[in-house]
Amino acid sequence: MQRLQAFKYELMPNGHQERQMCRFAGSCRFVFNKALAWQKGCYEQGKKKLGYAGLCKLLTEWRNSTETAWLADAPVHPLQQTLKDLERAYTNFFAKRADSPRFKKKGHSDSFRYPDPKQIKLDQVNSRLFLPKLGWLRYRNSRDVLGSVKNITVSQSCGKWFVSIQTEREVDQPIPQGGAVGIDLGVTRFATLSDGSYIEPLNSFKQHVTALRKAQQAMSRKTKFSNNWKKAKARVQRIHSRIGNARRDFLHKTSTTISQNHAIVCIEDLQVRNMSKSAPGSTEKPGRNVRAKSGLNKAILDQGWFEFRRQLDYKLGWQGGWLMAVPSKNTSRTCPCCGHVSAANRQTQARFECVACGFEENADVVGAINILRAGHARFACEVSDAAMPPAAGTHRSDSGTAQRRA
Ligand SMILES: [Zn+2]
Repeated sequence: MQRLQAFKYELMPNGHQERQMCRFAGSCRFVFNKALAWQKGCYEQGKKKLGYAGLCKLLTEWRNSTETAWLADAPVHPLQQTLKDLERAYTNFFAKRADSPRFKKKGHSDSFRYPDPKQIKLDQVNSRLFLPKLGWLRYRNSRDVLGSVKNITVSQSCGKWFVSIQTEREVDQPIPQGGAVGIDLGVTRFATLSDGSYIEPLNSFKQHVTALRKAQQAMSRKTKFSNNWKKAKARVQRIHSRIGNARRDFLHKTSTTISQNHAIVCIEDLQVRNMSKSAPGSTEKPGRNVRAKSGLNKAILDQGWFEFRRQLDYKLGWQGGWLMAVPSKNTSRTCPCCGHVSAANRQTQARFECVACGFEENADVVGAINILRAGHARFACEVSDAAMPPAAGTHRSDSGTAQRRA
């Protein structure tokens, strides 16, 4: 089976390379925004928007015009990839998977992508790689890259530059280990398994929130763009990157352990996006529980459930296992013992007590058991009736999954 995997490293550019990378990222952002403005203009005039080929033609014009001749200094492939990204953003928008494409801001996900492996040289022995118009770049070689290089993304985060190497390789069809498990994701316990074990949340955000607030306040007291302001800003960035690193580490470790020990993982099909939608409401109809909701929003986003689910999905795929999303109906209100469904079963947030048979258990464990049962039922349906189309969610039909974003 084919396995796609991305490997990410920190780059160690020299001054010239760093300036070049800033310029390339800037050129890509410029092209993206200019093309987006063009498409919006087309829409306002009632014209059809351009396709990728049309945008590439425009790009050539811009590179040749005297006004934006500096665009010709940037490698052309990454600029074209930016147009591809814009196309995808529009596709996702029309498919109602995302909001309409927005203009890019400086310093927000600065990156550019080299799509052609023929232009890339990877010298792992000497911890360096060659990229067009940048030359040989050194990187922190923390692990071996496996497989053949497909494409490379260079990105900047918190003042550091990174390279993400997307690879492809042939691996033996894995035999999944372990049985089926249901997982209930929550705020007080990050994940509760149907076997009764649970994982404490990391809450990296909470741990750092005081330090972050202090650093932000210190920054706001400085004169903007002064040297002291820049120092304060670097401090804020450092705390942000520390939070991100701690969370990524936690999510990866957790999802790896679970995916290595279970063949089937059932998970509630929660719409994290809906749950974390802002609560304020409109001016005529102000939202209720704004404070509580925003607290919950923060907790949910801090937990990284969406990222956790994405990691579980592709890691289970690597192990030959399955991730199954089940509808979240009544999972917290059904008694696993007698099947009685009632809101009264759940006296408090943490405690479950069946009003019909008196079964008592932790509410999150009950949720996980119900999720596992719903997953079993769904699995039986799909196996016995192969003609039934797989329901929406994470049911996979192909065994290889890409780790698109590193
Ligand atoms: Zn009961």
